[in-house]
Amino acid sequence: MSARTALVESLIERFPGVPGEAVLKEDLLRTGISFDDAALSDNLDGAVKPKSYFIFSFDQQPLAQLGEAANRRPPEELALSGGPYGLRRTIVSVRVNPASPYRVERDEDGSLRLTLEGRSVADVTLPPMPEYYRHTLANGKTVMETAPTIQWGYLIYLTVLRLCQYFGAKEECQFCDINHNWRQHKQAGRPYTGVKPVEDVLEALAIIDEFDTAKASHAYTLTGGSVTSRVDGLEEADFYGRYAEAIEARFPGRWIGKVVAQALPRAAVQRYRDYGITIYHPNYEVWDERLFVLICPGKERYVGRAEWHRRILDAAEVFGPRYVIPNFVAGVEMARPHGFETVDDAIASTVEGLDYFMSRGVTPRFTTWCPEPTTPLGRDNPEGAPLEYHVRLLEAYRETLEKHGLKPPPGYGTAGAGNAVFSVSSFMDVLVPEEEAVPA
Ligand code: SF4
Repeated sequence: MSARTALVESLIERFPGVPGEAVLKEDLLRTGISFDDAALSDNLDGAVKPKSYFIFSFDQQPLAQLGEAANRRPPEELALSGGPYGLRRTIVSVRVNPASPYRVERDEDGSLRLTLEGRSVADVTLPPMPEYYRHTLANGKTVMETAPTIQWGYLIYLTVLRLCQYFGAKEECQFCDINHNWRQHKQAGRPYTGVKPVEDVLEALAIIDEFDTAKASHAYTLTGGSVTSRVDGLEEADFYGRYAEAIEARFPGRWIGKVVAQALPRAAVQRYRDYGITIYHPNYEVWDERLFVLICPGKERYVGRAEWHRRILDAAEVFGPRYVIPNFVAGVEMARPHGFETVDDAIASTVEGLDYFMSRGVTPRFTTWCPEPTTPLGRDNPEGAPLEYHVRLLEAYRETLEKHGLKPPPGYGTAGAGNAVFSVSSFMDVLVPEEEAVPA
């Protein structure tokens, strides 16, 4: 058995409480996937929904080095099932890595499978092209660029500001390639709008609303870079808030409104609520104090860690604790040169943060770190964090949630292996669906 297969199987065996689906999914997210040319999409002209590059690149090579995958986009996500581990349907976001031991291949009979070191590990279904992607705005812009959907169509991802005002090595979060991703798409001549006009967003949403007849889309996320000064003359809360206000006026209650933004002072957070936002994500990225300063220098400089955390708790009073869901980037706490050297220490630190928030009713969530090569942390850690860290985090996350008597956070669909659609980490795959949870 080859090394990676042995690693995956040993972790599945050692951690029987973590579904095998989640172990494999975490490894795919931290490692990336290579693709047969025959498994790529035909961009917007084919039957497969292409990768939209909805905020970061989430690739493990620069666009210019992706080969055919730079011309014909890979699919946005994969649905895995079956194989030697008997996988229940598992939705995984696509991160391209031509050097990955994982490969999506097309068999002679046309079916797709995922291989690990040449051995088949899952059947693959690609996301079908949604009807709303086949229509364009009156000005010719695509719905995929203006209002892409992810999580198998559940979430409309509105990166309305494609750049972050934390700029350069002394401010950008050390794992984040938002600014680089903007540059590389511009250089490749792809449409990639810096600031999306409100009217474009509304028009794209009207197309989605019209053609998403199955009502697969349930939520929208407003996000983009941090605004430290102003954009279009507006401070951050008013800049992002104006989209929510317009969306809620035009499509009242059609989707759950979320915003991912800085931890703002209470009065600004209240404005988000007044604009119609339901869920607020003031992401704290990494818990440890020393690492936060090193990894998030912009957040430290403009707000500061203690104040960031205080504002998260203040926001819980505005939205209700269940509706404040700060994200952290799982794995960066183990990134060289500054990260924890053992999985034990990294888990202990991360759980301290989970306890801090969950004991106050706030449920963080996490995305799995993708070591993008143009970021400082990705450059120094091309293999990401150890898989064991990711698997143990899933176990610790579920235990901490249960310890504090909390339910899966709202706005992510149904929890549990076989149900979850959240595609950039397995946190929803390991939780018990609410309707199946046994009351204490
Ligand atoms: S705040 Fe950090 S993670 Fe968010 S866009 Fe800016 S640099 Fe990236």
